[in-house]
Amino acid sequence: MARADQKFGWLELRPGGLYCAPADIYIDPGRGVPNAIITHGHADHARPGHGKVLATPETLAIMGVRYPADTPETQGLAYGERITIGGVNIWLAPAGHVLGSAQVALEYGGERIVVSGDYKRRPDPTAAAFEVIKCDLFITEATFALPVFRHPPAEQEVQKLLTSIAQFPEQAHVLGVYGLGKCQRMLSLVREAGFEEPIFLHGALIKLTELYQGFGFDFGDVRPVAGTDKAELATALIFAPPSAIQDKWSRRFQNPRTAVASGWMRVRARARQRGAELPLVISDHADWDELLMTCKETGAEEVWITHGREDALAHALIAAGQRARPLRLAGREEEAA
Ligand SMILES: [Zn+2]
Ligand SMILES: [Zn+2]
Repeated sequence: MARADQKFGWLELRPGGLYCAPADIYIDPGRGVPNAIITHGHADHARPGHGKVLATPETLAIMGVRYPADTPETQGLAYGERITIGGVNIWLAPAGHVLGSAQVALEYGGERIVVSGDYKRRPDPTAAAFEVIKCDLFITEATFALPVFRHPPAEQEVQKLLTSIAQFPEQAHVLGVYGLGKCQRMLSLVREAGFEEPIFLHGALIKLTELYQGFGFDFGDVRPVAGTDKAELATALIFAPPSAIQDKWSRRFQNPRTAVASGWMRVRARARQRGAELPLVISDHADWDELLMTCKETGAEEVWITHGREDALAHALIAAGQRARPLRLAGREEEAA
């Protein structure tokens, strides 16, 4: 275990997760703790059961929707707003991943550490753009840290869906999207591409989409599947959680065309497993090149890697002259990619 008198020793790896001792606070802990900073609302980062939660106001609102019975003490911190706890200067910066997603910057004893949380570098109309923060130690995610993962432009992938809708106007199109982030980004992208028909949502996608609308996002004509005529749905565009595509729920649509929007769609076996006839490679995470670029741009002398393909990224960073260390945090299963 790192000691406080060592470099970066004020940020430790504990069984609960990354822990900053002078501030007595965990970042994205995997279990309930007295004090937590939460980078964003995905379930592998935001868990219920904490005593006090520090996060962006958007992330706090998302946690409130997802865990209505959980009532921690909360403190909202807008991007760039600073707070000092136990002598540690703390601020949040946009991570570009989903609404409210943040990197955590920590300054103590003349060192600056940045914890990325999940992030992407591509523009997303529903998430504030990632900001590069110069730091001494950068802790990066590594979900897609293999050279095979190079995401194509999202607009190109969206066009595949719209082409299919034009080619098969007599069929419903069911698009699998994660409920937080991907759903709302896809609504925006499909609208930006000029699709003006109503879009129907599976019940599991409605509350978070309404939350985004509450923050001012306009997704055009969006309606619940429930209560809609079968005849109207028969040729419609429908969004559902990826898991719903192959279950009983989707049998209400006769012979639908099925699509899934995810970074994992790069892997053919995953697309088949998900039942996606139309795999759309659209990710809310940095791809291989963007991970390498970001680690370099931070200017960090050392990079700790968590959350994914840690060894491959560590190897590439070391080859490029940065110090790198896989963290091997336990219990990390990506919620949304
Ligand atoms: Zn995430
Ligand atoms: Zn994650």
